[in-house]
Amino acid sequence: MNVPAATPQPLRHPALDDLTTALRELLGPRCSTSDSEREHHGHGESYHPTRAPDVVCYPQTTEEVSAIVKLCHQAKVPVIPFGAGTSLEGHVVALHGGVCIDLSRMNAITAVNAEDLDCTVEAGVTRKQLNEHLRDTGLFFPVDPGADATLGGMTATRASGTNAVRYGTMKDNVLALTVVLADGTILKTGGRARKSSAGYDLTRLFVGSEGTLGVITEITLRLYGIPEASSAAVCSFPDIASAVNCAIETIQCGIQVARVELLDETCMRAINRHNNLSYPETVALFLEFHGTEAAVVSQAETVQMLAEGHGGEGWRFATSTEERNKLWQARHNMHYALLALRPGASSWGTDTCVPISQLATCITEIKEHAKDAPFPVTALGHVGDGNFHMGFLIRMDSPEELREAERLNGLLVNRAIELGGTCTGEHGVGYGKAKFLRKEHGDAAVEVMRTLKASLDPDNIMNPGKVLPA
Ligand SMILES: Cc1cc2nc3c(=O)[nH]c(=O)nc-3n(C[C@H](O)[C@H](O)[C@H](O)COP(=O)(O)OP(=O)(O)OC[C@H]3O[C@@H](n4cnc5c(N)ncnc54)[C@H](O)[C@@H]3O)c2cc1C
Repeated sequence: MNVPAATPQPLRHPALDDLTTALRELLGPRCSTSDSEREHHGHGESYHPTRAPDVVCYPQTTEEVSAIVKLCHQAKVPVIPFGAGTSLEGHVVALHGGVCIDLSRMNAITAVNAEDLDCTVEAGVTRKQLNEHLRDTGLFFPVDPGADATLGGMTATRASGTNAVRYGTMKDNVLALTVVLADGTILKTGGRARKSSAGYDLTRLFVGSEGTLGVITEITLRLYGIPEASSAAVCSFPDIASAVNCAIETIQCGIQVARVELLDETCMRAINRHNNLSYPETVALFLEFHGTEAAVVSQAETVQMLAEGHGGEGWRFATSTEERNKLWQARHNMHYALLALRPGASSWGTDTCVPISQLATCITEIKEHAKDAPFPVTALGHVGDGNFHMGFLIRMDSPEELREAERLNGLLVNRAIELGGTCTGEHGVGYGKAKFLRKEHGDAAVEVMRTLKASLDPDNIMNPGKVLPA
């Protein structure tokens, strides 16, 4: 992505040369200062200004991660953990330079305990790699952020995705962690028991900590049985409120939909063009049902009936694996389909989440504010849990467009918080959302977060400038 450099450029750290020599001795060619590798690790997939780290390291074991962090701790040089670099709020930008620890070579699946429905993986394993590995076991890992992110990165951002409405987010699916702390100490949190009341929940502390409290090297995850039957469907609605109300009624009736995704008319146009499809170009819900053959039919029939009450029509079902994959692939490629609507534009994707009863209000109000925007504005969402993304297709070289996107994003976040929601449902804070943390949590809660950070990372070397407001 063509994005400007983060400013101001930090000074080169005085201890960097000695540190780089020590890292080379430790890792040999798995320590790099090449321009291309530094550039690759200086940004995620968002519009945020970038800044490359000074050094990139590729450890292969927890002990190597610990040794790298110890050296950085002695030199007081920042450490930025890196998974697949798919995050969207500037999470991996090396704002203060430093050492990027790329976990992608720690990609072993160390245990699958089929009877207990859990597994343990190294942090660099991607969600697709895990599901490929599990294919013959009849099990799967459900959290699905669209991009093929690493499980370490997904844990660090508390990711979720289309099927969180049924299977929860990373918060609900991480049982235990191995973490390297800011001084190199190796820590184990949690365990394989499904419940525990033993002390503070350190696992949850690190889930969503975005590399600011430690480097996650190993994760124990919950697994699920692949459902006997699955079926997906697309249904068109006259407007956003009708589609959202159908989703709300579905949840209120206790129907355990596996996915319920809202797409506005611009998203549907983008999907059709990008994937050569021919859906009606009006607001739609994409749904998926999991269960026994009979349960899937019954769930689909009930939702169809509810949808009719809200003007839903034109149901299209996808029951074979191939048809379902095609449908969800089109949904997952939405980011790129939207970019294709306006060649040369970047996508500024928002990520608010509100109580589901406030969803239609929030989206409709912001669409009204955005009606004169000088760029296309889209809305799509994981409506089953009130999480939605407005997309601003902007030209990064237009100060006017950037200003308007910033204004709309601020309006949206503030309104979502007023409605009892959050500034980020799943993408995380990075540095893009740090300024909203006080409004959402209040001064006292932010000060407790600062105290926790200071006690675990007194020299502020772990991904500095992220999560906590300046
Ligand atoms: C097209 C597209 C669609 C997306 N859709 C969704 C979605 O639906 N839901 C969703 O939740 N997200 C979504 N995302 C965002 C993204 O996929 C997630 O943020 C992902 O969880 C990040 O994982 P990663 O491996 O790419 O981490 P990175 O981007 O490499 O890192 C993310 C953050 O985690 C930290 N980190 C990474 N690995 C570790 C580790 N081992 N230990 C400690 N800290 C670490 C980094 O320092 C950084 O702060 C989408 C992204 C794209 C590009």
